[in-house]
Amino acid sequence: MIRVSADWILPIADEPIGGGAVTLDHGRVVSVGARDGSEDVALGRVAVLPGLVNAHTHLELSYLHGRLPPAPSFLEWVRPMLAARAQRSGADETAILGAARAAIQFARDTGTSLLGDVTNTLAVVALLRQAQMPACVFYELIGFSGRNAEEQVALARTAIDAVESDDDIHLSLAPHAPYSVAPALFTAIRRDLDEHAPMVSTVHLGESPEEVEFLRKGSGPWRSLLEQLGVRNADWQAPRCSPVEYLADMGFLTGSVLAVHGVQFEGTDLDRLRTLGVTLVSCPRSNRWVGVGSPPLEAFYAMDVDVAFGTDSLASVDDLNMFNELAEARRIAPKVPARTLLRSATLTGAMALGFDAAFGSIEPGKRAALVAVHVPQGVTDVEEYLVSGVDPDRISWIEAA
Ligand SMILES: [Zn+2]
Repeated sequence: MIRVSADWILPIADEPIGGGAVTLDHGRVVSVGARDGSEDVALGRVAVLPGLVNAHTHLELSYLHGRLPPAPSFLEWVRPMLAARAQRSGADETAILGAARAAIQFARDTGTSLLGDVTNTLAVVALLRQAQMPACVFYELIGFSGRNAEEQVALARTAIDAVESDDDIHLSLAPHAPYSVAPALFTAIRRDLDEHAPMVSTVHLGESPEEVEFLRKGSGPWRSLLEQLGVRNADWQAPRCSPVEYLADMGFLTGSVLAVHGVQFEGTDLDRLRTLGVTLVSCPRSNRWVGVGSPPLEAFYAMDVDVAFGTDSLASVDDLNMFNELAEARRIAPKVPARTLLRSATLTGAMALGFDAAFGSIEPGKRAALVAVHVPQGVTDVEEYLVSGVDPDRISWIEAA
């Protein structure tokens, strides 16, 4: 048992405590409250908060870090990305795994305690386990032809069932996006998820204007790209609606889905997401990098949609430091209180990923995955400081007894 005091404790589930203390035992939180002088360790000018939750990464794309420059439009980012991925050879495997391993370590070093990671190979599972980084791993399915959808899902299910899941690693299936997944495949995935409920899933949704054009009119750069890739589905008819309407009407969107991006969402979409209980995962730095603009973050919160944050992959962001993601969120949403942004980056992410029994807040019984951030002299609003971008050297983990 160890009792630690700090000038600020942010339980997230409760009001911040000035001059607080936490008692930890066997890796769990025993109590949190005001300090009383009985502490074993006094951290001083430090803010203690639960480890952050990065709800959207693609660790296996970490090897593309620095290879794809920021683009003025989505297709100008996607084309080089597809080319780079097509070029990868067997000899690159070691480098790919090495980059993913380093990315996990960096995420840990910058205060992240839980990931929502999208994978196409499941190779990342072993790396997460080695690093003892808890994660919900989404095995991603892509296929616009719609042929053999049931078989594709059955194979993917067999693959994830062959991987042992435990308290720290959950596995699930996820469709990539409406422009790369046929309706038959969405339906087959939804059926699988329902059969294995409770199961969370995720989908890229409303990221680019090109996606919206493709769904509303069936035309534009996405259609051209699909044709060039030879994956056009002659049976597919544009639904002539928004991305949210499309997947909601199909029955894919439920309260256990994380919809990632939402840059193109409008009021009616947000209304629908709130009604369905969908969590929106915003990745504002990535959005800027890939040329789709900034998400209407203030509208997300004003419409009372659950919002979590993710960095996306190192192919479209400088680093996996969630504090830097929060700084971009603060920049584009100055009216949203810092406390609200911090809750999104912790408890809301943990809840969406199905890990809130152990992560996301400082409460008795939860994991003692607590981060200590050194607060510079002169800072008076600590919550605001925490969403202003925090350098790795100010971040450390509290050693639990
Ligand atoms: Zn993504």
